[in-house]
Amino acid sequence: MTVNRIGRKNFLTKLAAKRIETWMGRKRDQNMNKLHFFSPILLKWNKEKNDRQMPWKGEKDPYKIWLSEVILQQTRVEQGLKYYEKFITAFPDVHQLANAHERSIYKCWEGLGYYTRCKNLIVTAQNVSKNLKGRFPDNYDEIKKLKGIGPYTAAAIASFAFNEQRAVVDGNVFRVLARIFGIEEPIDSTKGKKAFNALAGKLLDKKNPALYNQAIMDFGAVVCKPVPICEHCPFKQKCEAFLNDKIFSLPVKGKKVLIKKRWFNYVLLEYKEKFAVRQRHAKDIWHNLFEFLLVESGKEFDEKEIVKEAKKKKWIGANSYEIEYVSPVCKQQLSHQLIKGRFTKLKLHRKPELPPDILWIRKKELKKYAFPMFINQHLRKMDT
Ligand code: SF4
Repeated sequence: MTVNRIGRKNFLTKLAAKRIETWMGRKRDQNMNKLHFFSPILLKWNKEKNDRQMPWKGEKDPYKIWLSEVILQQTRVEQGLKYYEKFITAFPDVHQLANAHERSIYKCWEGLGYYTRCKNLIVTAQNVSKNLKGRFPDNYDEIKKLKGIGPYTAAAIASFAFNEQRAVVDGNVFRVLARIFGIEEPIDSTKGKKAFNALAGKLLDKKNPALYNQAIMDFGAVVCKPVPICEHCPFKQKCEAFLNDKIFSLPVKGKKVLIKKRWFNYVLLEYKEKFAVRQRHAKDIWHNLFEFLLVESGKEFDEKEIVKEAKKKKWIGANSYEIEYVSPVCKQQLSHQLIKGRFTKLKLHRKPELPPDILWIRKKELKKYAFPMFINQHLRKMDT
């Protein structure tokens, strides 16, 4: 390479670096500007246009806020609403929840999914009721120590109930900030989470943390939705995603969700109008819910294979049963698993010797037990 060509290359490299620096500087300045306009625009929108109604909005009772936030983790508001009402009616305060029979709490939670939330709800209710005399801690750090409460829920309770200056960062907030500020850091990476949390903390309106937090979540839920309504958006002129045609590429998610496929073949053993059910105790999905006798298989099983497994497990003996039906394949999609399977109903002539954890429940009594949705769908068909 000649001296001239090397000189030119160095010059172009420096020029490119300079341009990047200028662009980054401009971007930094733009974003610094946005730090100032963000909260006033958001609060103005909230005052003039936000008519989103939710029963827990403006609530100051930490118990009710906690309940609503736990119910809403990984749940749409429309679905969570009726569960919130059900819980508040059945358990108006933390002592009543703490002293309730576990089975009745699971029954209330039935259908909401992510049952670990319900388990943690019970642990925290008992802790607050017994060890803290029914009073929720009044600050973020102490609230976060309670079982099942992560940074988002702790920030929501601390700001809504106690007006603590804590910014909430949930899925809606990630989306709003990623789009307006053009942040391409994946929201599920450690670096991304740190960056979003730091930005959210800077943007928080320190005089009105509760109002601000509710406003940004509402804004993400009704305007900057996954499919946003940009034409009615007050940030339109300043939103990086809107100006650069990146609405649907922001926020960025780094990790791919791997879906595990499982086959659940349920055997409905019926003897004298009673059904054999057991509670799920293993560390797995549907923890603590009830189910019929399960044959899990790595692939689809037909009637013969299911009956063979039931015999192997000594649930039935030779000539002691009739097959009433085998259902078509049913399925339920969970966030990380796809459950498929069949229901095989066997009418027994003799009562088998079964392990002591298996209960014999009358058909009409089954309603009192909490089952996963996969089974409830089948129970509804049995009733019709
Ligand atoms: S302009 Fe569109 S993408 Fe940008 S904040 Fe508003 S609604 Fe969201």
